[in-house]
Amino acid sequence: MSDISRALRDLASDSIRQLRGAVAAFKDVCYANSLGAESMVLTDLIWTYAPEIEIFTIDTGRLHPETYELMERLQRRYGRALQVYYPDAEAVENWVASHGINGFLGSIEQRRTCCGTRKIQPFRRAIRGRRAWVTGIRRDQSADRALAMPLEWDRDYGLYKVSPLLAWRDQDVWRYIRSRQLPYNPLHDAGFPSIGCAPCSRAVQPGDDARSGRWWWERADSRECGLHARRAIFAEALAGDASAGMIE
Ligand code: SF4
Repeated sequence: MSDISRALRDLASDSIRQLRGAVAAFKDVCYANSLGAESMVLTDLIWTYAPEIEIFTIDTGRLHPETYELMERLQRRYGRALQVYYPDAEAVENWVASHGINGFLGSIEQRRTCCGTRKIQPFRRAIRGRRAWVTGIRRDQSADRALAMPLEWDRDYGLYKVSPLLAWRDQDVWRYIRSRQLPYNPLHDAGFPSIGCAPCSRAVQPGDDARSGRWWWERADSRECGLHARRAIFAEALAGDASAGMIE
């Protein structure tokens, strides 16, 4: 990591320590790669320093063309491919038949069932049998994420959730990407701080909340896809657990 500053190197070293700690504690660890800017940092850290962690992503079928191109650029850079999970075809067909192709615009409930069909179900399949999953969330992304801990018991999915980038600020992520000349989604340069499905993410004004470009027609407190929707912190439950040393 001679190509990055001392401060950034310290931040990255701490993240690597958490990733390796997760592998040591849980063995079977996966990373749910959202293909956003933070994912470029985590992909670099994992494939370089903690390659035991399987990286997967979910193709909802509604992603931006730039996101598919990014998958290919990652493959070219690292010489290995992300594991891609897809929604169940019949479930998607049934959802579209019931709600229409863009039925997620109809109500928060319909949007959540679309995310459930296209994202949550394949996500559940991807983490099945695992002991821990890694996320790229950062504390300064939203009020909810500000409460996150590096290691949490994920009550919704029944495994540990490791968040090694919580202390990173947006500028740290971009300094790392630029210093290491990592590939990233060009939509970030067009004002997208957060990139999800094409119809549900858009550019925002400089200084706006990073999540405000996601499902912008809804209330701010409903803008999570479900993967990080309900926080459950059970740090005390980890006392005596092999993973306790990972808690900052
Ligand atoms: Fe459906 Fe939009 Fe959720 Fe993608 S982000 S799964 S298109 S509601």
